[in-house]
Amino acid sequence: MKVLVVNCGSSSLKYQLFDMTDESVLAKGLVERIGIDGSVLKHEPASKDKVVINADIKNHSIAIKLVTEALTDKNHGVITDMTEISAVGHRVVHGAEKFASSVLITTEVMQALEECIEMAPLHNPPNILGINACAELMPGVDQVGVFDTAFHQTMPKHAFIYGLPYEAYEKYRIRRYGFHGTSHRFVSKVAADMMGKDIKDVKLITCHLGNGSSVAAVDGGKCIDTSMGLTPLEGLVMGTRCGDIDPAILPILMKKEGMDADQIDEYINKKCGVLGISGVSSDFRDIEGAAHEGNKRAQLALDLFAYRVKKYIGSYAAALNGVDAIVFTAGLGENSSSMREAICTGLEYLGTKIDTVKNNVRGKATEISVDGAKVKLFIIPTNEELVIARDTKEICAK
Ligand code: AMP
Repeated sequence: MKVLVVNCGSSSLKYQLFDMTDESVLAKGLVERIGIDGSVLKHEPASKDKVVINADIKNHSIAIKLVTEALTDKNHGVITDMTEISAVGHRVVHGAEKFASSVLITTEVMQALEECIEMAPLHNPPNILGINACAELMPGVDQVGVFDTAFHQTMPKHAFIYGLPYEAYEKYRIRRYGFHGTSHRFVSKVAADMMGKDIKDVKLITCHLGNGSSVAAVDGGKCIDTSMGLTPLEGLVMGTRCGDIDPAILPILMKKEGMDADQIDEYINKKCGVLGISGVSSDFRDIEGAAHEGNKRAQLALDLFAYRVKKYIGSYAAALNGVDAIVFTAGLGENSSSMREAICTGLEYLGTKIDTVKNNVRGKATEISVDGAKVKLFIIPTNEELVIARDTKEICAK
């Protein structure tokens, strides 16, 4: 069975084609600058040379059409015909309270996705465009939606309700949802496997640290709390997002800087985080480089980021009433040994200690705590696409 995994952003589209007989990736690629001058498709077949196709890609339908042509091309293709693809799995950012697990896309599901747009106005519309484009080009092929929010739907009410009048939840469904759920779910399972335990028997804190970052508390395979909220803005300080702040800052800044609601929204999403603190970049590699050269604001951004992650780890250890392992994943979590060390230094009271020699590794599933530590520390590369492909296979096999 071959499964195409599609992840549509507002101006980008990532894809991977899996052969689910052995879960191998036959091809992957990225369409960038959809609807913008200079659009391009970068296609990487597993056993052939990469190709870069420059084309005028006006919308997501054209992007999907180009992807299907690249996949079936006689030179750089990996299948002879699109009928070889049995199903398509889509990453969908927001499923609100409507979806607690992945689903086969039907007319009713599309209707529910439309209703979720107000929760994720930037993310859900391109996801819907991608689903429609695939339905048009691959009529009759099953499509599955896999939600970033679904894994967190097990959070108890005391973890997901805000300190607002309860009517805000009843009327508008304003509550904490959490994101990166597919990643937290994946690394939780791998961590349990690496510990040789059933996931039902372990308490985990999973740290997805990338451009967007979140931490989750996972008890027996179920999420009981996570740092992102109604939107991906809450929680840790991120590349360009402010994370947790005193909400009173917003009206104060709006008045002082003359910003309206859209402008403050753009400010807290795009101009803050480690970019705003360091004044250097939103990319941790640039910030680490600048800090190394003595830039004090870059160093402050790194210290602040590590401190916030450590605080979440401490609070989730309390929420879980103990923890068996802490997992680092995503771009920064998998690759930055100095950030992992900064976060873990001083966590000895929890029963853990980072082994600085084992920690000197990047992008590999491995344990990095000292031998015999009561609480294990792991690096586990995430693989959201594989989870989407597996869910798609399972749902379509039913
Ligand atoms: P992601 O959103 O998971 O793709 O992660 C992107 C973030 O990971 C960016 O801020 C990168 O700077 C950071 N990152 C990737 N590789 C490294 C590395 N070797 N050292 C430090 N940060 C890295």
